[in-house]
Amino acid sequence: MKGGGLKGMLDRANRRIRYLRISITDRCNLRCVYCMPEEGVPHIGHAEVLSYEEILRIVRVMAGKGITKVRLTGGEPLVRRGVAGLVRDMAAVDGIQDLSLTTNGVLLASMADELRDAGVGRINVSLDSLDPDRFRRITRGGELRAVLDGLDAAGEAGFSPIKLNVVPIRGLNDDEVERFAALTIDKPYHVRFIEFMPIGARAMWDESKVVSSAEVRESMAGLGALEAVESGVDDGPALLYRLPGAAGVIGFISPLTDHFCGLCNRLRLTADGRLRPCLFSDDEVDLKAPMRAGCTDERICALVDAALDSKPDGHGIAAGYKKKYKRTMSRIGG
Ligand code: SAM
Repeated sequence: MKGGGLKGMLDRANRRIRYLRISITDRCNLRCVYCMPEEGVPHIGHAEVLSYEEILRIVRVMAGKGITKVRLTGGEPLVRRGVAGLVRDMAAVDGIQDLSLTTNGVLLASMADELRDAGVGRINVSLDSLDPDRFRRITRGGELRAVLDGLDAAGEAGFSPIKLNVVPIRGLNDDEVERFAALTIDKPYHVRFIEFMPIGARAMWDESKVVSSAEVRESMAGLGALEAVESGVDDGPALLYRLPGAAGVIGFISPLTDHFCGLCNRLRLTADGRLRPCLFSDDEVDLKAPMRAGCTDERICALVDAALDSKPDGHGIAAGYKKKYKRTMSRIGG
């Protein structure tokens, strides 16, 4: 990875956009109760999913405009065949300096080495319970052991830090906050607690199930006083702390109680080729149809600019809890 658009793109609110999250598939090997409705979601047809060549073309064009950071997500990115090859090609794109991946960890044990070799710099693993039965219930059938093996393999492969994303939900897993936080005492993990957002399995979401970051923090008070840690460039809106003498770090990400849209520096690309300027807005710009109709790179640039222009100043979810989004997180790319 070399070079880099130092400037990034400026949106209407003067935010410098350098970060692209790409959902490479809408398919997932878990069906988490809060992410997907029980009946599942209709899959995007294979022909409608961007090919790796199409994804790489978009990344090349956007790197030329100042995108330096790419995160692969899904769905579950590791279920798409050839993902390490995609990573390798993306790592070679001029301007891409930081390549990361978000996964549920189920397939990580067998893939950690090749992903690291291919050029994934950092890895985030989503994990919402450390109890095997509960994990199975939350994920509708997943095996916790596979994820724990994946975490070990990621450590052995040299990923550092390994970030764990936990969504505490009242009555579901909020009694495990302390246990998750305590993991950081011996392991160099970044355990990040993310507030439950009103997107995904909407039937399940209601305000009373949201455990605010302040509450999460309170429920780990027994472990000792948290010391503030300075955030790194890739920590985004997470506020970071450390337990006394701990190897790892605890992070709080508070989309509901801390309005951090002013710091948002990202765009999202869905598996079916739409640029989505804000997680909480269904406004999207289609890149796939023009590309398949033979458009030029200049046209893609213009469409990226249009997406930037439509990036809202704020997500407005506090006012719009009742809103229904067209896509679940599995179809946007969390
Ligand atoms: N399959 C990958 C994984 O599990 O990390 C990537 C996709 S998953 C949709 C990305 C992240 O979105 C996960 O960390 C998940 O916990 C989070 N997520 C899904 N629905 C959410 C919600 N309603 N509120 C907060 N986070 C959510």
